[in-house]
Amino acid sequence: MSKVIKSKLLIVHPGREPVPQGMVVVDKGRVVGVGAEVDVPPNVEVVDCSAYTVMPALIDSHVHITINNRFHLPLSAHFDLDATTAVLRGAMNLRSDLDTGVTTMRTLGDRPGVEKAFQGAIDRGEAVGPRLKVCVRALRPRHGTAPFLCFPADGEEELRLKIRENFSRGADWTKLFITNVRRGDAFEDYIRGDLTDVAAYSKREIDAAIAVSHDLGLPVAAHAIGGPAMRWAMEAGIDSIEHANLLTEEDVALFVKSGAYLSDPNLQLFFDDEVGFASFDTWAWDWWRERVERARELTAKYLPEAVRAGVKVCLGTDSTHATLWREAKELVGLGVSEVDALKAVTTNTAEMLGMADCVGHLGVGMFADAIALDGNPLEDIACLRQVEMVMKEGEVIADVLSGASDIFSD
Ligand SMILES: [Zn+2]
Repeated sequence: MSKVIKSKLLIVHPGREPVPQGMVVVDKGRVVGVGAEVDVPPNVEVVDCSAYTVMPALIDSHVHITINNRFHLPLSAHFDLDATTAVLRGAMNLRSDLDTGVTTMRTLGDRPGVEKAFQGAIDRGEAVGPRLKVCVRALRPRHGTAPFLCFPADGEEELRLKIRENFSRGADWTKLFITNVRRGDAFEDYIRGDLTDVAAYSKREIDAAIAVSHDLGLPVAAHAIGGPAMRWAMEAGIDSIEHANLLTEEDVALFVKSGAYLSDPNLQLFFDDEVGFASFDTWAWDWWRERVERARELTAKYLPEAVRAGVKVCLGTDSTHATLWREAKELVGLGVSEVDALKAVTTNTAEMLGMADCVGHLGVGMFADAIALDGNPLEDIACLRQVEMVMKEGEVIADVLSGASDIFSD
């Protein structure tokens, strides 16, 4: 049965003028009509959001399905978790993401088998969550960071082999960890390798990994905090750089020149003292705090500059889940406009994912993926926090209406 969403204010596309009392007509999961004056067929079901702003549903650029910071475990402990608990947490995490307005996301590393299993289960309707774009297995060098969510691959040959295997298992993206090295397996060793610009892969390895991925039609994302590896990757035509928290002016110019997307700058970790790095036990370590403060300073200076220069920023929640609103709020806090923050959770990410023809805005022919908010995010970005209605492909997600989206609010 077709539906019509009624709004107080309709944001069809974050870059265009919103439409007062706009409506969205939905049939078979797609938008078939949109605007203030639109033909509404008889006997449609009305989704009454006439007290709310209606806008395109959100897209999360960078997620790990089974990890969630709210359990306050060191990241390594997530990998030691038994498989059943991990999967139950993954199901809860994705449910909370959907309930907070995210209907599409890209997952960039997890335990073996998790990403494809969730992607398939959601597509078949056996699990509830956003539609997923997956990397199957994230790849790192053997001395590289984050062993708990990625798989070793060293040298050009092994990288080609693993990337081809990922492709044959249904990967949508290649994910590499190209900065940060570690010496040892303890959590502190991981932290010691984090937030540095030390190259973990050589230029030849990065070139080979990007070339073989592109030959297969796979775009490439790389965890890169900064430094030479991040620049080599952009010179080789990488599609998205993840984090980039040690940005320089030269890097901003290279983002512009290469057209790489800047994804998941992890703003809440750096800038929200209540939930970010400043709230973790590791904040007591002077050397770590200094490192965070350095990254914070460079991000605050160069990220807004990158947006002004035309770099497409895509926001992600990484391991926090259900908090994309916090990322958008922090981006605005750095001086970026509300419009650009909305693009960073809708159209920019849709383009990055190659899905600009089906998600990110509410034009005719797009998936009917919409959310309703109590307030206008173009004036107050923080109203993204309270999502009153979520629709994914024309279906209203029931729990949101009964308030279950609050499960993750503090
Ligand atoms: Zn990540």
